[in-house]
Amino acid sequence: MTFSWTPHRFSGGALALDVANSVVLRADPGRRIDRFADPAVMDAFPDGANRHGAERALFGALEPVGADARDGLVALREAIDRHFRAEVLGAGKPALMADLLDAISATLRRSGTRPHALDTATARSALMLLTQPEPERLKICPNCHWLFLDRSRNRSRAWCDMAVCGNRAKASRHYRRNREEPRP
Ligand SMILES: [Zn+2]
Repeated sequence: MTFSWTPHRFSGGALALDVANSVVLRADPGRRIDRFADPAVMDAFPDGANRHGAERALFGALEPVGADARDGLVALREAIDRHFRAEVLGAGKPALMADLLDAISATLRRSGTRPHALDTATARSALMLLTQPEPERLKICPNCHWLFLDRSRNRSRAWCDMAVCGNRAKASRHYRRNREEPRP
C-alpha cells in the first residue's frame, strides 16, 4: 500500500468531514478517487485519525469497522457529504437532513455498542456538526472541494489546508500571470 493517511488528509476539522473527504474530487467523475474503495486503506484510516484528526481527543482511540459494517460506513459518509455540502451551497433540504439522521441512527443501532468503532464515532461527530452553533464555519475548499470546519478565531480560513491547496492556488495564479504578461 503506497497510499498513506497524511496530516493533510485530516484537514476537515471534524471526524465526520475527514471521513466525507475520503473521496477526492467528488464532483469530477474523471478524476474522482474513493480512498475507502480499498478495504486496507479504510482500515488504516482510524490510525491516521488518532494521530492527526482535530477531534482525536473526543472519541478515544478509534478502531476500524468490522467487514460487515463497511457498506454502512460508506452510506453514512455519503449522507454526511450530501447534507453538509448542500448546506454550504445554500441548497440544504430537510430531506437531506432526514437522510443523514437515518444514516446516523442506523449506524448507532448497528455498532453503538462499539463506541470506538470508526462508524460510531463518525455518527457522533456528524450529530455534533448538525448542532454546532455557527454553520458559517462550514466551508468547501475551492481547490480540492473538500468540506472543512473553519476553526480559526476570525473565520478567515479559505482553504482546507493553506500549505497544500492555498499554495497550489497561489502557484497557478503566478503561472498565469507570468504567461499573460510578457516580460520587458
Ligand atoms: Zn483543499
